[in-house]
Amino acid sequence: MAFGEEAGLHRPLADSVGGVIASIPEDVDLAQALSDRETTDILVHLLYQNREQVERALARVREGGYGQCEECSHRIPAERLRYQPAATRCVDCQGRWDRVNGRTA
Ligand SMILES: [Zn+2]
Repeated sequence: MAFGEEAGLHRPLADSVGGVIASIPEDVDLAQALSDRETTDILVHLLYQNREQVERALARVREGGYGQCEECSHRIPAERLRYQPAATRCVDCQGRWDRVNGRTA
């Protein structure tokens, strides 16, 4: 099950960038991919999204609500936080949020 193991390895990255980077073929030279204007725009967008998310998570720490879903108030599973330390929603609520915000999950 080498393929399954590999998929598991890549899951945290794919999860943290919403699956967008995972859509870039692995045999593409990264420098070549980065020189592409569209790819650069996607990465800049992701960076902003991520920074926003990290700031949200830090705000949750200050409020004492870190590790708790900001939508349904259920505890976010420790495994999700390990892969996604900046998560402020549980998987279900994040999926709903992504759809509402026009991101296809
Ligand atoms: Zn939730």
